[in-house]
Amino acid sequence: MSNKYAKSLVVVRELDSLRRRVHDWRRDGLSVVLVPTMGALHEGHIKLMEQAKKMADRVVATIFINPKQFGPDEDFSSYPRQEADDFETLDVAGVHLLFAPEAEVMYPPGFATTISVAGISDILDGQHRDGHFIGVATVVAKLLLQSLPDIALFGEKDYQQLVLIRRFVKDLNIPVDIIGAPTVRDPDGLAMSSRNSYLSTEQRAKAPILYATITEAAAEIARSREIMVTIEQARQKLISAGFDAVDYVEARQADNLAPLKSTSDSGRVLAAVRLGHTRLIDNVAVPTR
Ligand code: AMP
Repeated sequence: MSNKYAKSLVVVRELDSLRRRVHDWRRDGLSVVLVPTMGALHEGHIKLMEQAKKMADRVVATIFINPKQFGPDEDFSSYPRQEADDFETLDVAGVHLLFAPEAEVMYPPGFATTISVAGISDILDGQHRDGHFIGVATVVAKLLLQSLPDIALFGEKDYQQLVLIRRFVKDLNIPVDIIGAPTVRDPDGLAMSSRNSYLSTEQRAKAPILYATITEAAAEIARSREIMVTIEQARQKLISAGFDAVDYVEARQADNLAPLKSTSDSGRVLAAVRLGHTRLIDNVAVPTR
């Protein structure tokens, strides 16, 4: 099934329609960029689409709320769903094709294969979200192989996800360039996220402290080179700011997320906190001196 929506966005829900269109574009010498999402699109997603348009002749977005990346106690059933609004947003952004499959298209009966990236899957978010990165790697590998784009674009907001994708794309020789895009933030610094809609007014007021704290920590690491002390101070700040839990705050090497031991390596400060049932993640680069 495929239908033409409003101006120029074409929505397809079946695999062969996706494959045929991308194949025809590439046969005609047009380059193709893929931008996977889970929908509930916000300004951060729109910026990704705009960046994608500058990178290739055709932009393919996907919307799929991947059940395999949510744990049993997570928000799969309550994750915001707003397909009609999302279609319009993508259309206005000038996206050419949207692949929005049903779960049975992605995971037909008998589906039995998963992709597990040793090491990267098990640290940071992986320690707090059992099976999450196996679900992410499996669905992203499927989307890449289903569409076979030249480029795929992902936000640095989900930094561990980006590192994980780069790793398995390299390991499995998937012929696609993975590009990371900067995090888009609200004016007070809070990274835009579909999950921000869960926050109460009071929680929303507290949320920007996450970005402020990791930004300050990254600057302090660059200045003082005191990595462990600075990270411990950041953890204490987040706890005193009244977050309900600090899942982690860590300084890691930017390319492989191994612990940052020296400021001569390029570094990243990453953190995850909870406000009630809502989990916020964020990360920033350690400035280079
Ligand atoms: P999601 O729909 O949350 O799974 O995100 C889809 C894509 O958009 C992923 O590559 C995310 O990293 C990216 N993304 C989400 N929020 C932001 C943001 N605030 N800035 C930049 N990219 C983002």
